[in-house]
Amino acid sequence: MKRNLTCSLLVAAALAASLISASAGEKPGKMNCPMADAKAKCKVLKGVVHLRDNDVRFARKGGGMVFVDPTAGPTDPLAVKAGLVKPDLILITHPHGDHFQPAVLQEYLQANPQVILAGPAEVVKLAAEKGITMQTVATNQTYQLAGVEVSTVPAYFENPQAKHPQAGGWVGYVLALNGARYYVTGDTGPVPEMAATKADVIFPLLSGCGGNLPDAVKMAELSGAKFVVPVHTSGQVETIKKYVGQLPKEVMSAYYLDAQLNPTI
Ligand SMILES: [Zn+2]
Repeated sequence: MKRNLTCSLLVAAALAASLISASAGEKPGKMNCPMADAKAKCKVLKGVVHLRDNDVRFARKGGGMVFVDPTAGPTDPLAVKAGLVKPDLILITHPHGDHFQPAVLQEYLQANPQVILAGPAEVVKLAAEKGITMQTVATNQTYQLAGVEVSTVPAYFENPQAKHPQAGGWVGYVLALNGARYYVTGDTGPVPEMAATKADVIFPLLSGCGGNLPDAVKMAELSGAKFVVPVHTSGQVETIKKYVGQLPKEVMSAYYLDAQLNPTI
């Protein structure tokens, strides 16, 4: 519980830090592409925004948005600035408070009662207690949800002290959209199933809640992804830079701070 509490405190700090001014009505997932040599990563991350924590949002070509673990509601300044406030699919990895917030889901449901929500059984049960209907996903499966191919990967730590047991049936998600495969790991260590994800872009847990830099390096290597975008970074820029410096040379990386893309080499 102590670890989970720490995660929740990190969320509170991140939420407080995010209360900055923002303009409304911008293009979904609009981003700067500040470096000429970063065009390739800007292309693969077009319409993709890591808002904070594990909150990663995707605008689909042709319309529609997919959110993974949204912890910011539709009026959150960063979400509004990114133009990513109208999901038609929301995916939850596991029930910890920095990934699953029923009040936030209710806000999106109020805005669009047609939004499809999905998560592991434990999340579905907790959501039902709040009057929220979700579809149940299991590990190592592929689903068609809101017209998106979604595959699940087990998310857990071998170490029981990390409080993310394999028996929980918690997941990471691989989304096939906009011509690429995006893998959001959720809270997990490197697990063998990552080798089968065929991910183009991986969003690994980097820091806190059981995550650490060596494991995040292993996850990038296991997945074989060509692009790495660390999430759940606790906003620690030095750790992020150290991390991307340890990735294989052929791998490209980027990170987001306050939902703004920061390309690295
Ligand atoms: Zn967790």
